[in-house]
This record gives sequence, structure tokens and C-alpha cells, in this order.
Amino acid sequence: MIDGGYYLIGCVFSFMLGSVISSFLNVVAWRVPRGESVVSPPSHCPKCSSPIKWYQNIPIISYLALRGKCANCKERISPRYLTVEIVGALLFLAVFIRLISSEMPLATFVIYLIVMWIWVSLMIVGSLIDFDHKLLPDFVTVGGMVLGVVFSAIFTVMNFFPGAPNEELFRKFFPSLFSISGLCVGFGLLGLVRLLGSMAFKREAMGMGDVFLMGAVGAIFGPVAAIFTIVASSLFGSIVGVALVALSKTKFGRYFEIPYGPFICLGCLVWMFAGNEIVQMYLKLLTP
Ligand SMILES: [Zn+2]
Repeated sequence: MIDGGYYLIGCVFSFMLGSVISSFLNVVAWRVPRGESVVSPPSHCPKCSSPIKWYQNIPIISYLALRGKCANCKERISPRYLTVEIVGALLFLAVFIRLISSEMPLATFVIYLIVMWIWVSLMIVGSLIDFDHKLLPDFVTVGGMVLGVVFSAIFTVMNFFPGAPNEELFRKFFPSLFSISGLCVGFGLLGLVRLLGSMAFKREAMGMGDVFLMGAVGAIFGPVAAIFTIVASSLFGSIVGVALVALSKTKFGRYFEIPYGPFICLGCLVWMFAGNEIVQMYLKLLTP
């Protein structure tokens, strides 16, 4: 679609933009649940309150240059900031590479790219907040659903993260319906799991935010993606949950304290980058 030089520039730009956006998402994840403004006051050291100058606020590079310490008081800054910046940069890059390999007109490509970058950003900030506070804010979950439904009303839903082959016609002629059915499948299935789980364990098995988030995954990527993400995320969640219970020798009840949102995001990412390949492989296994 584009030649080597532009491809390289696109890669570098995606990586840099991803690191800048995730640096900002770190701030959002810290401030929004605390009811603080995301723009003022400007970034400052939480210990000595000295303002962080612009050249000390360059994603990834500043953290490494300052060796993870405040330039003024040498207070240690959590390596989480660096991790989020690197992961965000790599995800933006990965989305760019995945989309550029498809043969679509430039304008369509740019729009898809932006929508996917927004979705990746919502997943990053949602995972961070869920991890810290065990809640998923509406701007992530409802925002994701709106993103999926509105976008599919204008364009055919996410062709470049395709699902099962028989989805293609459905997707082509009923894009909005495709998105809304995905929303219903994601929301409905996980809602059912939540209901049954709460009845079986006599306590809330997961938050309503998780159910909304799964609705967003379905709205953006369709019904097959929703089912795939539920299976993948519960698999990841179980592995990590069992490992944590085994390692820490804590009671099984603590299993419920692990936030589920980050696993939904992980499952969705697997769908975005390998879902089609995995579904095709699975279908081949079923049909001799
Ligand atoms: Zn300081």
C-alpha cells in the first residue's frame, strides 16, 4: 500500500504517539477516580510537589534518563509509568502494522486507525483504573459501546479484524445490526455469567462494569469477537487466579478480588491481532 520510507515514518510516528498518549493515560488513571482535573495542576512530584519540566516529561526517555527518580527529591517513581508508556507505544505500533497490511483506501485506513487507537487507549486507562480501584468508568465502557455502534452505522464494522467467514455478508449489509448484535451477545452472555456466578457463590462474581465492557467489545468487533473474548478472558483470568491462590496460599475467596476488566482487554487484544487466525484454525479442526 505504501513504500518503505513512509512505512518506517508511520511506524515511528505510531510508536511515539502511543507513548505520549499512554503517558497522558497514566495521569488520567490516577486523577479521574480521585475526581481531579486531568489538565491542572500540571504534573508534579507527588512527594516534593516540584513541577515536572517539559524535558523531564518525555515519555520513556525521561524515565530512563532520571533512572526512575524525581529530579528534585530523588523519590522513586513507580516503574508502572514506564511500563504503561512502552506497552501503549507498542500497541499503537501493532495496530498501525495490522491495518496497513490490508488493502484499503488511505482515508478509510486513517479513520480505522484513529478509531482503533481510541479503543486501545480506552482499554489501557480502563485496565489501570480497574486494577487500582476495582471499577470501570463509564467513559471507557459506555464510550466503547457508543464508539462501536456509531462507527458501524457509518462504516462496515472493523473489516480488518475479521471474524468467522459467514459473518462477512451480515457485516456488509447490516453493519449497524452487526454491531448491535455483538453488543447484545457480549452484554447478554457475560451478564448471564454474572447472574449465575452471583447465585452460585452467593456474592457478586463480577462488577456490572465488566458486563458493559464486554458489550463494548461486541459493539466494536461483532458477536464472534464477543464470544471469543469471553472465552479467552476467562481462561487468562482463571490461570492467573489459580496461580495467585497457589502462590500466596490465600483462600479461594480472594480469587474474586482480582479485577476482571484487564483480562477482558487482554482477550480483546488477542482477538484483534490473532482472533481471525485462531477462529479459522478452530473451524478447520471441526470440519474434516
Ligand atoms: Zn520530588
